[in-house]
Amino acid sequence: MQPKFIFITGGVSSSLGKGVTVAALGALLECRGYRVTMQKMDPYINIDAGTMSPFQHGEVYVTEDGAETDLDLGYYERFTKYTKITRANSVTTGQIYYEVIQRERRGDYLGRTVQVIPHITNEIKRRILNLTKEQELDFVIVEIGGTVGDIESVPFLEAIRQMRRERGRENVCFIHLTLVPTIGGAGEAKTKPTQHSVKELMTYGIQPDVLVCRSSKTLTEEMKDKLSLFCNVKKENIISAVDIQTSIYEIPEMYKNEKLDEVILQHFQMTSKDINFEKWEYILNVIRNPEKKVKIAIVGKYIALNDAYRSIYESLIHGGIANKVEVEFIKIDPEKLEKEGNIEIFRETQAHGILVPGGFGNRGIEGKLLAIQYARVNQIPYFGICLGMQLAVIEFARNVIGWKTANSTEFDPKAEYPVISLLEEQLGIVEKGGTMRLGAYPCIIKENTKAFQEYKKTKITERHRHRFEFTIQYKQEFENRGMIISGISPDGQLVEIIELKDHPWFIGVQFHPEFQSKPIEPHPLFEGFIKEAKKYSENHE
Ligand code: GLN
Repeated sequence: MQPKFIFITGGVSSSLGKGVTVAALGALLECRGYRVTMQKMDPYINIDAGTMSPFQHGEVYVTEDGAETDLDLGYYERFTKYTKITRANSVTTGQIYYEVIQRERRGDYLGRTVQVIPHITNEIKRRILNLTKEQELDFVIVEIGGTVGDIESVPFLEAIRQMRRERGRENVCFIHLTLVPTIGGAGEAKTKPTQHSVKELMTYGIQPDVLVCRSSKTLTEEMKDKLSLFCNVKKENIISAVDIQTSIYEIPEMYKNEKLDEVILQHFQMTSKDINFEKWEYILNVIRNPEKKVKIAIVGKYIALNDAYRSIYESLIHGGIANKVEVEFIKIDPEKLEKEGNIEIFRETQAHGILVPGGFGNRGIEGKLLAIQYARVNQIPYFGICLGMQLAVIEFARNVIGWKTANSTEFDPKAEYPVISLLEEQLGIVEKGGTMRLGAYPCIIKENTKAFQEYKKTKITERHRHRFEFTIQYKQEFENRGMIISGISPDGQLVEIIELKDHPWFIGVQFHPEFQSKPIEPHPLFEGFIKEAKKYSENHE
């Protein structure tokens, strides 16, 4: 059977939560037993998100097969259990043009003029259909990035218009997500921007079947009547998406109550399978009734932007769910620590755990090292991720082994003790895009270690995104002084996990565990970290 295609566009404003809406719809359809995949079309010219600053675009999400993608792909993976997200699920204008231009240079177009229609639009459609080649699917949900009216998204809109014409209404559904703002002292909700957005969409030949309206209050019957009349959408297909108060994990439930999934199934004239929503109910129950609050300090360069460490924050929340606690984030700017030497910040904030996330470049490095030292000396649970692991190695080399000049060659290319350095194969690389160690790699875990206690197995795979590595020649010196190399690549050359012997929970990982955590399956290291932080908080009340 051919899968059904659901296309979701955005109107009026960006940042309305299109990605989470797609993910939540995917979650609901999966809870009804359907096989779902989700795809993001990003209208920018970059080939992928890998070269984009987190300040601009939030975190770069890494898939199992090593694609550097938009963070919405993270939501797709987190909200579902079975959806397989790979390179093919993330498409950009840059990729589409790159492919078409390469074909033109090869002479594949046999002398024809290469044009947006049909060549670019055909390539867009090919990438959507490609998803359905290797897997049995009931639904393909495609998110068109940007807002209707942007110049960049026009070819994507044209491609999905064509798909509707070719496959028919019974196989293609258009959802338009818009904003219904509340204006003035009387708090009156306004439908006009939505009417205009739908009008704009119609100029591209797309009549939405479903409207999802973000608003601060539930839409009244009267407003739904109005929207239905002016936008030519059935009243039952106008969904009210009210702002969520506590957690994004309430969004699937909100859409379930609004019957978004049922509306979609009715559109396709599918008889609905019963929904099994128990797992989500369990999660929501924990989120709404935590036993206590645990405070985690995150010491990172991009703390000012919430989305820059999106997966880390979500994984900490998942660790909280596993331990029935709420996690409060204390965001600490390492440059402040560095400038003021103000390590007392930690005493004031009373963090129950300290996390240093991944990062690039030397800004704030010394501040992060101070934070790590504080965690090590004061026996506070510490979790170092990628750069956070590398810095834990440097801190240990300087302050425990006594190599005061130890560093990463990323920050000091001529370091006397280059405890973190480039691998041979990375040495000659000058191009920035897609040249790091990317995607899933296996790791072997040593038994009788904390890492083993958390994972409960010896073979794992985790996703990577970095260039530098622990310099293996120094391994023995570190081990002699009480650092345990608890995870290593199968060939014994790449150090993947370190921990400390004389510390309740001090773990650094070269990989990014945050890309594999889900609320329904919290990652074991995040679960363990929060468990230990909870213990710390109980002992320090
Ligand atoms: N800058 C470090 C490296 O490239 C760490 C990268 C990261 O934290 N993702 O190895």
